[in-house]
Amino acid sequence: MAEKFDAIVVGAGPSGNAAAYTLAKAGRKVLQLERGEYAGSKNVQGAILYADALERIIPDFREDAPLERHLIEQRMWVLDDESFIGTNYRSDEFNRPPYNRYTIIRAQFDKWFAQKVQEAGALLICETTVSDLLMDGKRVIGVRTDRLGGSVYADVVILADGVNSMLARKAGFRPELDPGDVALAVKEIHFLPQETVESRFNVSGDAGVVIEMVGKITKGMMGTGFLYTNKESLTVGVGCMLSDFKKQQCSPYQLLEEMKAHPAIRPLLEGGEMKEYAAHLIPEGGYNAIPQIYGDGWMIVGDSGMFVNAVHREGSNLAMTSGRLAAETVIELAAAGKACSARNLALYRQKLDDSFVMKDLKKYRNMPDIFHRNPHFFTTYPELLNQAAHTMLRVDGVDKKEKEREIRSSFTRKRSLLGLMGDAYKMWRAFE
Ligand SMILES: Cc1cc2nc3c(=O)[nH]c(=O)nc-3n(C[C@H](O)[C@H](O)[C@H](O)COP(=O)(O)OP(=O)(O)OC[C@H]3O[C@@H](n4cnc5c(N)ncnc54)[C@H](O)[C@@H]3O)c2cc1C
Repeated sequence: MAEKFDAIVVGAGPSGNAAAYTLAKAGRKVLQLERGEYAGSKNVQGAILYADALERIIPDFREDAPLERHLIEQRMWVLDDESFIGTNYRSDEFNRPPYNRYTIIRAQFDKWFAQKVQEAGALLICETTVSDLLMDGKRVIGVRTDRLGGSVYADVVILADGVNSMLARKAGFRPELDPGDVALAVKEIHFLPQETVESRFNVSGDAGVVIEMVGKITKGMMGTGFLYTNKESLTVGVGCMLSDFKKQQCSPYQLLEEMKAHPAIRPLLEGGEMKEYAAHLIPEGGYNAIPQIYGDGWMIVGDSGMFVNAVHREGSNLAMTSGRLAAETVIELAAAGKACSARNLALYRQKLDDSFVMKDLKKYRNMPDIFHRNPHFFTTYPELLNQAAHTMLRVDGVDKKEKEREIRSSFTRKRSLLGLMGDAYKMWRAFE
């Protein structure tokens, strides 16, 4: 292990695999270290895979990647206690290859990706935890692992170690995690016969459906719920900000139980056999919570850098893209005969700034703060919208003009005209 590598990648999730694969493919000498028994053994995700990010790394991934269903329909539900109002988007264009989004099972997917990394020439060692970064002054020169004599050296260390990123915190590259910047998500996988999944969601073949949910299911906490179709199972989960769970003294498990009992969700899960339960943090602090992501001899990629777009539930694609861009930075510097100094690694930040990763996170930079400070977006508005739909759809002899008046007054009663205008402005600021 005293050997020197061009790069060490810590972690074999999507960001680490993308970085290690890109480097190895370019002929760099790469060591990848993963604490899990195998890549994916410790990883949790919904999970939707966004093809574009992976296609830019492995163009022919569809040939053998373990994919569940390609997504042809997205439902967005705003839930009240007993009802929901929502939108559906379904397109046959999404049903024509090459497909754009897939559901996956992360344990299988990460294992497959890690296999590709090894085939590209990287050395992956699992069941090995990196405990420290080796420093020469301010410069990272390698890592210490929990293996005997486990110090190993490299020109650059890429931290792809996920949301907790103990290493970056220990080295002082990143502050302690703020509970207001991370969501705690819990999810279950419910197994059902393939025909049941298909008839329940009106799909056939490998096509699938996604349901994203907001509203009363999170009890005023900032968060969302989700339900995804896999081949022979459904993934159902909910996540809220960790600080909100603490404040409300509410258990995530209890929240998921109540969500599953909602009259809109219960029938979809009926008869399923729950086989997997997992909980994991998601970095949702957004653009304003991104730490320093490069320095002398090191870069941070993926969840460790807070690269998650919570509005669109995109994380793995930002992880893979940041991993690829970090690797491309190293490759470019090597080609130019330049060292991996902080000054030169600034190129990584520049590449990220030019990509959708930073552009999207910047677009939604006000969102976490605005929604966190205005819980009525998760309670009052779902209630009002559902009531409005109910009032309009119920045929009871009341004329439609009167119904409109009733709906308008329910909004102003609950939020006042000034409150409504203020909320409209906040919404605009959150999504501007
Ligand atoms: C419930 C849930 C649902 C989600 N749904 C989606 C979704 O549908 N679509 C989407 O795109 N994203 C989703 N995400 C987000 C997505 O999972 C993450 O953004 C993505 O996994 C980040 O990848 P990563 O490689 O940066 O980190 P991780 O996937 O967390 O990988 C980090 C790896 O590093 C290893 N590691 C950590 N510390 C060390 C150490 N010291 N030494 C050695 N190894 C170490 C870990 O074992 C792990 O394998 C979801 C997340 C959750 C929790």
